[in-house]
Amino acid sequence: MVVMKFGGTSVADADRIAHVISIASARSASERVCLVSSAMKGVTDTLLEAADAAEQGSEGNARVVEVLRERHLEAAASLCQDDDDLPIAISSRIDELAELLHGVSLVRECTPRTRDLIVGFGEQLSCTIIAAALRAQGHDSRYVDARELIVTDDNHGGATVFFEQSYAQIKRALAGTDLPVVTGFIASTANGVSTTLGRNGSDYTASILGAGLRADAIEIWTDVDGVYSADPRFVDSAFVLPEISYQEAMELSYFGAKVIHPYTMLPAVDRGIPIRIKNTLRPDVAGTLIAAHTSSNSESITGIASIESVALVNVEGGGMVGLPGVAGRIFTSLASAKINIIMISQASSEHSICFVIPDAYADHAREVLESELKAELAQKRIERVAVQRELEIVAVIGENMRGKPGISGRLFYSLGEAQINVLAIAQGSSEMNISFMVYASESRHAIRTVHDAFFRSAE
Ligand code: ADP
Ligand code: ASP
Ligand code: MG
Repeated sequence: MVVMKFGGTSVADADRIAHVISIASARSASERVCLVSSAMKGVTDTLLEAADAAEQGSEGNARVVEVLRERHLEAAASLCQDDDDLPIAISSRIDELAELLHGVSLVRECTPRTRDLIVGFGEQLSCTIIAAALRAQGHDSRYVDARELIVTDDNHGGATVFFEQSYAQIKRALAGTDLPVVTGFIASTANGVSTTLGRNGSDYTASILGAGLRADAIEIWTDVDGVYSADPRFVDSAFVLPEISYQEAMELSYFGAKVIHPYTMLPAVDRGIPIRIKNTLRPDVAGTLIAAHTSSNSESITGIASIESVALVNVEGGGMVGLPGVAGRIFTSLASAKINIIMISQASSEHSICFVIPDAYADHAREVLESELKAELAQKRIERVAVQRELEIVAVIGENMRGKPGISGRLFYSLGEAQINVLAIAQGSSEMNISFMVYASESRHAIRTVHDAFFRSAE
């Protein structure tokens, strides 16, 4: 059995959905298929914008909702001419969405819980259409709402999955079902409150289902030929990696390769299920295989990724040397304020603690830290909490880096030659990742420079 997940571009309109139907349909002739889909391209962004606008009391949402209604009804009409129930099902979901947004605009408050409820409509709509389109082609397909399968905590916007409970429900609900079409991205708490798995979360849905069903393979169908050595939008010479390890895929995606959600690998690793990234528009291309062991890569690095819009926070002061517990207090206070730390780098002199957070939290982090470290700042044991913005993290990743001398030298020499200023560096002890901070304005140049330095000879 195979779980096939299709992303937003793959289901952007009726033509694309028809193409997805033909891929899944052909496959189901030889194997059991469980299909997972994202919302139609751009719909999740539209829903998030609508939620924000409603919170501001905007009246403009009625128009946005009608555009969404038209778009989904049009796709439905083109794919399932004879299905009278489908337009009714779509319209009733859209009416529910409209009511919800209206309610938000009245109270002018959109809690994370309500936002999750609103943003989940995209997947419900796309999957309703896909299941109906498969039935129109003679398949015994069924729409399945993942909120009945995947159980999470109530950390809205990026909930934590309870695997064992979810696996039990998945097995029970999907056993023996022919071609179920499961909504990506959405889940629910044990009490039935809607949650989401974070942006790009449909990939994660697919691997949770794959593990729950003990599938032979998980396939992520998207709009590129596979995982590239660097983001193909920025690096012309980037190439498709035929095979990478789970660990490499996790590192690349954590550091910004959005072709796959970083958590996707977790359930798959657990049950040893291979993941394949495939291009919906070029189904014959082999794509990238993500598995436990890889053999094909002889390069010293595997890929380069980057995270945009981050800020570097530097807590500095001579009086910090030997002062126990400061790092603990810094990280605990940020955790209490729900500020995620992406990367940490501390010089061994203990003179400063330096870490990276999403730029959107920069001001808040400074306030939190200045309050936490008030006494030390007053006593001048800590001189300042410095925040630098408009930066990016670039990460160089690869299992082959382990135990191989000279990689850092080559990396930073190439950046020096290109006159690119490096503001901070971190290397994980697994030795498969070297990350460094650069000015956002120099990040593309940095990525291309490093890509050239390691892969020019491979071209
Ligand atoms: P989907 O809607 O199918 O989930 P996404 O837009 O989430 O697709 O992810 C695919 C995109 O990820 C590609 O179009 C590409 O621009 C981007 N991307 C970033 N880094 C990489 C990489 N290293 N390899 C492949 N694609 C990448
Ligand atoms: N539709 C969601 C998003 O845009 C989930 C996904 O596409 O994977 O983030
Ligand atoms: Mg995606």
